[in-house]
Amino acid sequence: MKTDKNIPYKIYLSEDEMPKAWYNVRADMKNKPAPLLNPGTGKPLQAEELYPIFCEELVKQELDNDTAFIEIPEEIRQCYKTFRPSPLVRAYFLEEALGTPAKIYYKYEGNNTSGSHKLNSAMAQAYYAKKQGLKGVTTETGAGQWGTALSMACSLFGLDCKVYMVKVSYEQKPFRREVMRTYGASVTPSPSMETEIGKKILAEHPGTTGSLGCAISEAVEAATTHEGYRYVLGSVLNQVLLHQSIIGLEAKTALDKLGVKPDIIIGCAGGGSNLGGLISPFMGQKLRGEADYRFIAVEPASCPSFTRGKFAYDFCDTGKVCPLAKMYTLGSGFIPAPNHAGGLRYHGMSSILSQLYHDGYMEATSVCQTDVFKAAEQFARVEGILPAPESSHAIRVAIDEALKCKETGEEKTILFGLTGTGYFDMFAYEKFHNGEMTDYIPTDEELAASFATLPVVEE
Ligand SMILES: *Cc1c(COP(=O)(O)O)cnc(C)c1O
Repeated sequence: MKTDKNIPYKIYLSEDEMPKAWYNVRADMKNKPAPLLNPGTGKPLQAEELYPIFCEELVKQELDNDTAFIEIPEEIRQCYKTFRPSPLVRAYFLEEALGTPAKIYYKYEGNNTSGSHKLNSAMAQAYYAKKQGLKGVTTETGAGQWGTALSMACSLFGLDCKVYMVKVSYEQKPFRREVMRTYGASVTPSPSMETEIGKKILAEHPGTTGSLGCAISEAVEAATTHEGYRYVLGSVLNQVLLHQSIIGLEAKTALDKLGVKPDIIIGCAGGGSNLGGLISPFMGQKLRGEADYRFIAVEPASCPSFTRGKFAYDFCDTGKVCPLAKMYTLGSGFIPAPNHAGGLRYHGMSSILSQLYHDGYMEATSVCQTDVFKAAEQFARVEGILPAPESSHAIRVAIDEALKCKETGEEKTILFGLTGTGYFDMFAYEKFHNGEMTDYIPTDEELAASFATLPVVEE
């Protein structure tokens, strides 16, 4: 096998080299992401209006468009050390299998019990909730990774954790549910009869398998109707991208040490947090005119927010209790076909990434799930790691880009985010192996019906 003698297979930073501050890419954006709006008044939300829903420190981070570096509190840095730094891997085996001149790196975030990057933000959010003296937090989870990460973080900080889990995942992923309960969380399938909004959604769509949008509405209602509880969210929000910048900061420090500059940076995009976190420091350079990169967001063809959505103000949840965010969206009423990448089934997208995409700083592409699983299997067989279906969207496009290099002979350097493991996704792999996996792509008519429900907002 051909290897670069200066570049090891796995590159780890030392604890001392780990970032001491998160990087806030908004500070370097000329066009800031549009503000959240109060759904009642249509006016930008003030911090005080968000305090009943979110922890105060997290609200400050959410609204801070100007501070480039925000210190990571010492307690969070200690917690990070239990599972970080995460390895940057040079995919020598994959490069050889593909016969490509491209150099491929991936940043692997699956080396913790929750199995994904979500623990980076869960630790931070649980810490701030505890520091505020709260009893507990409520949240939603799709595939279960966020709920698992949050239940781990809450058990560490001694907080109660109440999770509304999208019903289809609750049924497909009983093991994730049990991991959450092991860490002390209570888990309810959503939509449920526990909340007013859940009852309403069930009355309107009997037999629905749920969606992230529904589960968010239920979790927000539960937080605002219980004393000492706040709502936390594992993706989409600016604060989550901020916490996830640790992925990109570590990756960039490691690559800088090796003298390597990536040409293309690829990540899967559900709500945009891992992608936003991975690209942030590189995007900062691009925004400041210091370096150029190609950034590619990869989404499922069944839930194509960037590639077929509209850039508009929309509700973040199906029940329309959350603030309005300006983002690429399929409409808050959009319920995607049950795709096996549960973590990518959200109708909207981070406002930060939406603005950057709108302004031409990044690209997006969509892929079908059978092609994604082909890439997942090819990757597993040579690199050893069993990837999550979500992460495999990035693998698919990294392989495709490497194969283009094979045609043109270009030695491009590709970096992609490998967000998690697929240990709890074996039903999906089973469907794939049995040839029972299908690719559902929404029709233009279905999307048009969903767009018709977008709120009318004067800007
Ligand atoms: C949640 C999740 C995603 C998608 O969420 P983002 O906020 O877009 O990063 C991707 N991969 C894994 C493994 C996940 O758990």
